[in-house]
Amino acid sequence: MAEKTPTQLIDSFDRRIEYVRLSVTDRCDFRCTYCMAEEMTFLPRSKVLSLEEIARIAGVFVQLGVAKLRVTGGEPLVRRDVTTLFQQLGALLDNKGLKELAVTTNGSQLVRFAPALRAAGVSTLNISLDTLNPDRFRALTRTGTLAQVIAGIDAALEQNFPRIRLNAVVLRGNNEDDVLPLLDFALNRGLDIAFIEEMPLGQVNMAGKPLEFLPSDTILSGVEQHYNLESEGAPDHSGPARYWRVDGSSTRMGLISPHSNNFCGSCNRLRVTAEGQLLLCLGNEHSISLRDLLRDGASDIELSNAIVTALNDKPKQHVFDQPDQPQIMRFMNASGG
Ligand code: SAM
Ligand code: SF4
Repeated sequence: MAEKTPTQLIDSFDRRIEYVRLSVTDRCDFRCTYCMAEEMTFLPRSKVLSLEEIARIAGVFVQLGVAKLRVTGGEPLVRRDVTTLFQQLGALLDNKGLKELAVTTNGSQLVRFAPALRAAGVSTLNISLDTLNPDRFRALTRTGTLAQVIAGIDAALEQNFPRIRLNAVVLRGNNEDDVLPLLDFALNRGLDIAFIEEMPLGQVNMAGKPLEFLPSDTILSGVEQHYNLESEGAPDHSGPARYWRVDGSSTRMGLISPHSNNFCGSCNRLRVTAEGQLLLCLGNEHSISLRDLLRDGASDIELSNAIVTALNDKPKQHVFDQPDQPQIMRFMNASGG
């Protein structure tokens, strides 16, 4: 009898997985201080999934009921020929079962790529922007130019993506005074914005460097002194952010709080790294190599079965705030955030 493909992904804590983030490269044109070290050794190309391998894995996930794919990195838009991948992923939309194709980008290449992303069917863009001060932007990203990113945001706006959200990691004593200017920037352009607590990943947080995250509640009370906010809670299946609508505007402010508001109970996500590791949790080491399976000639059904079996090991929650647990040694650019 022919083997049947499983049609949905439910883990041992009854969480249904509908959202997969695909990291398509570990490389990046920036070196953000909270994400990478100044000197990075990137993966040899032979270890990185080819665009065809990524598209095949994506197709298997969509057959398993995944409705949302997010392409991330490193910086996804520095991967050569990435537009062809977007076209292949776009072909999974609608009648193939995919409902939403999303990208997270640092914005540096958007002037060039925004039209192609929109044409391929990308509906949701997250663009990282931590400050509106050009010198601080250069210091935080080590190599980035603020004007180039703002031009990228405006190029994306011209394409009328249904959803664009800015992402800002807020670091105590660094860019906390950017929160209100960034919110004003989002309001002026009719964009959403999420403020993110820094997470401890990779050796950027080694050598005794204390985490500089600013608790989301501090951000919330600061913003509430200037704006009326209406809580919208955490929309189902969209990600870990809790949202507030800024009164009288279309802008929603999101808070992503891995430390102060554990969101693991409603986690509906898996991640695939640039080298094809299926990560069951951003904040744990559990993983299996989809690349090895693919390169050993696994069929789609064998890949599906391996994913379903791996899901039994999806942990209940991350270990970021448990001092007795080993912290995660992956850099954020490896897993895509
Ligand atoms: N290069 C793209 C970008 O910056 O948007 C995509 C990859 S980046 C790893 C994805 C998101 O993770 C970005 O919004 C970035 O700000 C965030 N990020 C990186 N390192 C982080 C950390 N240590 N804690 C919290 N967020 C982090
Ligand atoms: Fe690159 Fe994004 Fe990491 Fe910054 S956060 S170094 S832009 S991957």
